[in-house]
Amino acid sequence: FHAKDVGVTYIIDEVNKDNDAKKKILLASELKKSLIDNQLELYFQPQLSLSSNGIIGVEALIRWKHPKLGIIPPADFIPIAEENGFILAIGKWVMYEACRLAKQMQTEHHLFVPISVNVSAKQFWHHELLDTIQDALQTSQLEARYLVLEITESITMKAGQGIQISTQLQQLGVKLSIDDFGTGFSSFAYLKKLPLSELKIDKSFIQDLVESKTDRDIVQSIISLAHHLQLDVVAEGVETEQQIACLIELGCDIIQGYYLSRPIPFEQLVELLKRHHAQSI
Ligand code: C2E
Ligand code: MG
Ligand code: MG
Ligand code: MG
Repeated sequence: FHAKDVGVTYIIDEVNKDNDAKKKILLASELKKSLIDNQLELYFQPQLSLSSNGIIGVEALIRWKHPKLGIIPPADFIPIAEENGFILAIGKWVMYEACRLAKQMQTEHHLFVPISVNVSAKQFWHHELLDTIQDALQTSQLEARYLVLEITESITMKAGQGIQISTQLQQLGVKLSIDDFGTGFSSFAYLKKLPLSELKIDKSFIQDLVESKTDRDIVQSIISLAHHLQLDVVAEGVETEQQIACLIELGCDIIQGYYLSRPIPFEQLVELLKRHHAQSI
């Protein structure tokens, strides 16, 4: 009886695995078409400064609008694209599109808001990175200071060349931000050497901020570390007023999350920024 039980579980596992593998293969082949068929779109999530109460940045987050499968979230296809190298083509598209839209906000709507773009590990280490960014800025005529690159801690951990690449990016005039901070294992010695401008505290520490003393202590430590390094701190995944109150008390600089807005399409972002701007004057 026991053995049969195990057997059934085993078969179910195999079927699920098989489905996952099939889904992965399907998505991988569909992904190649997504760029040509214009199925990718950037959504945007605003970031609010707790000191000025103004929106001081927006993060670009990719969405894949598949004609049959609907909207596919990045968590479902970015890892696949990382694996098969297609992330390089996607990453390039994101860079040009983000710069184009940031410039459009300036010229058509007089909104001068820096745009944050997620850069994957493969993209960061690729020899074309600098050229791509330079060309995206040149093509769009966007000033470099309006572009922020979000990289993850795992990138910063890989010592050596990381500092050189980061320094070249800094010399271009773009800003560097560490995403999902606290989930990897950054070396403090290394963090000190990187030309960063901000740390983004991972949303897993924000989620239980109000209830958990431990999470509050962790967030407090990250803020203190960041400020000692002269970096701004962004809290990700802020959903409630109580979390904001807590973050103000802890000295956090910037918040991002559903409380303010979910990621929204470009046209909606423009409306939100205009509304917010009008309100804060
Ligand atoms: P991330 O860069 O850490 O982005 C933040 C994620 O948290 C986004 O998920 C956002 O929608 C979500 N989020 C924002 N506020 C809240 C909140 O209050 N509560 C909760 N529960 N979640 C919130 P999304 O858009 O699904 O993106 C997931 C990840 O996919 C991103 O994490 C980033 O690592 C990656 N990604 C997204 N766009 C791109 C891209 O253009 N290029 C690359 N390489 N990666 C991307
Ligand atoms: Mg990010
Ligand atoms: Mg993050
Ligand atoms: Mg992330």
